Amino acid sequence: EAKRQGRGLVRVFTEAMDESIRLRRRIEDGLSHAITAGELKLHYQPIVARESLEITGFEALLRWQSPEYGTMSPALFIPIAEESNLIHDLGDWVLEAALETVKTWPGQYVSVNFSPRQFRRQNFVGQLVERVQRSGVAPNRVQIEITETAIFDDAERAADTLYRLRQMGFRIALDDFGTGYSSLTNIRKFALDCLKVDRSFIDGMGRERTSMAIVQSIVHLGRSLGLEVVAEGVETEAQVDTLRAAGCSHLQGYHLARPMPAEDALLLAERRFVRAPITEAPGTAA
Ligand code: C2E
Ligand code: MG
Ligand code: MG
Ligand code: MG
Repeated sequence: EAKRQGRGLVRVFTEAMDESIRLRRRIEDGLSHAITAGELKLHYQPIVARESLEITGFEALLRWQSPEYGTMSPALFIPIAEESNLIHDLGDWVLEAALETVKTWPGQYVSVNFSPRQFRRQNFVGQLVERVQRSGVAPNRVQIEITETAIFDDAERAADTLYRLRQMGFRIALDDFGTGYSSLTNIRKFALDCLKVDRSFIDGMGRERTSMAIVQSIVHLGRSLGLEVVAEGVETEAQVDTLRAAGCSHLQGYHLARPMPAEDALLLAERRFVRAPITEAPGTAA
């Protein structure tokens, strides 16, 4: 009886696997047409200075409006693209679009996400430089966001790539910091401008002492290496206060501003500041 049940489970499991593989294929197929069908766009989310809330840059975040699946999260389709060569076409499209947009802003940088496969592509630096030069955008207005996974597999080569990029004036940010495998001493080897503290730690700050301790350690590490430290996923005013006190230099999150279409980002960029968080200014209370 147990054996028969076991076989039944295996069958159910296998069918579920087949189903998920089919779904992956369909998504892959849809994605491969998304560029030419005009279904992709970028949203931009402000990154602001801790005290003044002045916008120093915007992160470009890919959006896919699929006729079949609706708006699908990049957290879902990027990994699928990453497993095929599609990631390169998507990445090229993202870079072109981000470069066109950053040109319209008065001075902020655009922060572009690159997945590990993009980063490790043959001649990544050469192609990037060529595209940025052709666009006429100064490299210091382009920030390259990569994760720890992208650089720690082949640390020597990654260190060399980052060094070259930084020499040419690009900004480099380590994304989702704290969730990967970086050994803290290794961080010194990489030419970086910015650490982005993963949202999960910001989210945990109010609840667990460990999250708070991790945020403080990252801020400390970043500052002692002369890096900017951006807190990701800031959702409350209490978090803003805590992060200011901890010495985090920059903030990003729904509480400051959500990712938005290019038209809206331009208006904000021209205004230079995000709306002040909802607090009483000192002395205005009745
Ligand atoms: P990420 O690079 O860590 O981007 C931050 C994510 O957090 C974004 O999700 C953003 O919308 C979300 N976020 C920002 N503030 C808050 C907040 O206060 N609360 C919460 N809950 N979330 C917040 P999104 O846009 O869904 O992107 C997910 C991931 O997909 C990105 O994580 C990045 O790894 C990847 N991705 C997005 N666009 C691109 C792209 O153009 N190329 C590549 N290679 N990956 C991309
Ligand atoms: Mg990012
Ligand atoms: Mg991130
Ligand atoms: Mg993330």
